[in-house]
Amino acid sequence: MKALGLYIHIPFCVKKCNYCDFNSFCLNSFDMPEALINQYMEALHKEAEIQSEAVRQLGAQVVTIYLGGGTPTCLPEESLLTLLTEIFQAYPVARDAEVTVECNPRTVDHKKLRRLRDTGVTRLSIGVQSLDDSLLARLGRAHSALDAVEVFYLARKVGFDNINIDLIYAIPDQTMKDWEETLDLVMELEPEHISSYGLMLEEGTPLWNEVRAGAIRPCDEDCEIAMYYLAKDRLKRAGYEHYEISNFALPGFKCRHNIIYWRLAPYISLGAGAHSYVGRERWSNLKDPGDYRHSIMRFGSAVDEQETFTESDEMSTVMILGLRMANGVEEEEFHKRFGKSMRDVFAGAIEKGVAHGLLEWDGGRLRLTRHGLMLSNEAMREFL
Ligand code: SF4
Repeated sequence: MKALGLYIHIPFCVKKCNYCDFNSFCLNSFDMPEALINQYMEALHKEAEIQSEAVRQLGAQVVTIYLGGGTPTCLPEESLLTLLTEIFQAYPVARDAEVTVECNPRTVDHKKLRRLRDTGVTRLSIGVQSLDDSLLARLGRAHSALDAVEVFYLARKVGFDNINIDLIYAIPDQTMKDWEETLDLVMELEPEHISSYGLMLEEGTPLWNEVRAGAIRPCDEDCEIAMYYLAKDRLKRAGYEHYEISNFALPGFKCRHNIIYWRLAPYISLGAGAHSYVGRERWSNLKDPGDYRHSIMRFGSAVDEQETFTESDEMSTVMILGLRMANGVEEEEFHKRFGKSMRDVFAGAIEKGVAHGLLEWDGGRLRLTRHGLMLSNEAMREFL
């Protein structure tokens, strides 16, 4: 049976963060947020039902479910639980499926977390970002450091034994000491998984505007690199495996859902702006929740863009995504998938990457070097 990942997008948040250009909308900016949520959820249920049929026809089994956003936990408790229950009923979900829900502090309480756990959520991903209140304010987060720590302990209390903490570094004005303190505090919590991303200043966001106006100074490149390696080395010492450019896990707790993306294995996604990839077909839904809803209710589909990968597209993407992982890309797996040798197909790119110290062979695997991790875009460009 084919294994499949299922992603569900909830495009709402209680507040839009200053750096965010994700497909998410602040609920408070709408006159009737409840009506908006209900309408969106109605469309999501309809799409879930339609896609469940497609999944059954594929003969696939759902091995991971990921509710992301936005902030899924800003949905009312009943909406969230009804959605999850419907997914479990309508889809052929594996008994040991990894079921993740993204959550932000101040959008959950003890009861909501307990009911999520009881409904079958196995993994919680908490958007902490920093444990420094002044940096959280700069990011425009809707919570304090204490709120984040409290949610973590609440999650533990209701039985979550697989928790991810999301962190951001290279925030304007953040010092190495600030970053070190956040890392130390997070390690004291002992989450099973930590995602650590350098802040991206996305055009048009309030933070980008402030930097452009000269009101604040971005973190310089050397500092960002130093922060990256600080996290890598500190977390490694604390027993975390650095298994992907930005992700760390204790043994046995790698995120199975994200590994599906990095291996370019099949996944189906539901909701506004969600992307899917099955059998060399890649498609994405309309991004605007209103357009998405209208299209699903009227036509039963909200597909906005669709492309068919050629074999060569797929080979390049397998290399680019696979190199994100510490294990890199296995020659043997590549050969099994394409019937071709990775060394032949990408001879030039591999030779150049190795010569520049960005790539290295480890037995039958090609992977990024320690130096290549920070220059991954440069190394990967050659595989396009
Ligand atoms: S909580 Fe996440 S998705 Fe929502 S606005 Fe902030 S960064 Fe964007």
